[in-house]
Order: sequence, then C-alpha cells, then structure tokens
Amino acid sequence: MGFETPPSNWYHIAMDNSPTDIPWNRPSLWCEANTTLARTIHCHHTDMAAAIQTAGKIRMRLESIFPCMDALCRHTCPTCTDNCCQRAWVWADFKDLLFYHLAGITPPEAQLLGGRGEHCRYAGPFGCRLDRFQRPFVCSWYLCPAQTLILQNTPADRDDLVTSLQWVQAARRRLEAQFIQAVFNPGEAASYDAVKG
Ligand code: SF4
Ligand code: SF4
Repeated sequence: MGFETPPSNWYHIAMDNSPTDIPWNRPSLWCEANTTLARTIHCHHTDMAAAIQTAGKIRMRLESIFPCMDALCRHTCPTCTDNCCQRAWVWADFKDLLFYHLAGITPPEAQLLGGRGEHCRYAGPFGCRLDRFQRPFVCSWYLCPAQTLILQNTPADRDDLVTSLQWVQAARRRLEAQFIQAVFNPGEAASYDAVKG
C-alpha cells in the first residue's frame, strides 16, 4: 500500500504560493464565506441529503483514527524541537468548510493564517488549540518523520491510519461534488450515492 504522506518539504513548497492564495484570510472574508455557505446549504437542504451523509461518515472515520493520532502526538510532540505547526503554511480550504457545515462542526473563528510570515494562529505552547474536527484535513494528513518512524514498527496501526486517511481524502472530493450537484443540478443529486465505509 502506498504511504501517501506529503513530502517532507511540503511547507517550503507551499511557501512558494502567494499570500493571496490563502482563501478568506481576513476576518470579514472568513465570516462572509461561512455565512454564505450556511445560507446556501439551508436553501438547498432537501437536496443535500447525500452530502450530509458523506460528511457524517467522514466525521465518524476521522473520529476512529483520532485516538491513534493522539497517541502518536503524546509520544513525539513533548520532546520535539522543530514544531511543525510553527512553520506550517496551511489553511482551511473549501472542502474543510463544507465538512464543518455539513457535519455539524463549529468552524474555527478565523482562517489559520492571514499572510506571509505568520504562524498558524491556533498553534499554542502545548499544541493545537483547535478540536481535531476543526483542524483542516491537511493537519490530520501530515504525519511527521518521528511519527512515521513509530508507525513503521506498528504496521497494523499504520495500515489502518493510511487506509482511513486515504478514504477521507476521497470522501472529501465526493463531498464537494455532491454539494455542487445539489446546488447547481439538484434534479440529479440522487445520482450521487453516499460513499461506503
Ligand atoms: S507532529 Fe511531529 S513535527 Fe509536529 S510538533 Fe509533533 S513531533 Fe514535532
Ligand atoms: S490548525 Fe492546529 S494542527 Fe493545524 S497547523 Fe494550526 S496549530 Fe497546527
């Protein structure tokens, strides 16, 4: 099975992006995006059944791997000297917003970053201050080298984790497609079956 974690220089690659690539990086934009999305879902609620079901399954699948991720963090983070959250160049994307709104998760108060040179506003001295469900999926997707090393010695846990992360990644794409179809082509919404798992 391929172990598709981001490359170790993922944050450097992302740093090549312009600060304007960060969506909704001002409080007013973040507020507008969330308000508009909530209103859109409300207006099309009867056509959102498949998307809501997918979001619920994503939530359950994530919940199933959080204990493993918590355990990895307990083993590696307290002694880490190169905190990934202090140098991460990541943010919530549209799929993350969809997940929050369709799975009943309260979105973070603001986008993670406002612009170049900033650290994630949720990185605290004792780790991330967001509930795991509120973190952008990229934060769950990233397994650092120390954690990858531990997983090499626990192949069953590694396989479970990788399988689930890949499942969630695919389900997020399906979630976006179901949302778009519900809004722009509601007559066809039923043709998108809920994802299995
Ligand atoms: S996840 Fe890894 S790189 Fe990030 S703070 Fe924990 S030990 Fe350090
Ligand atoms: S949201 Fe949390 S996990 Fe993600 S980069 Fe910020 S502090 Fe780290």
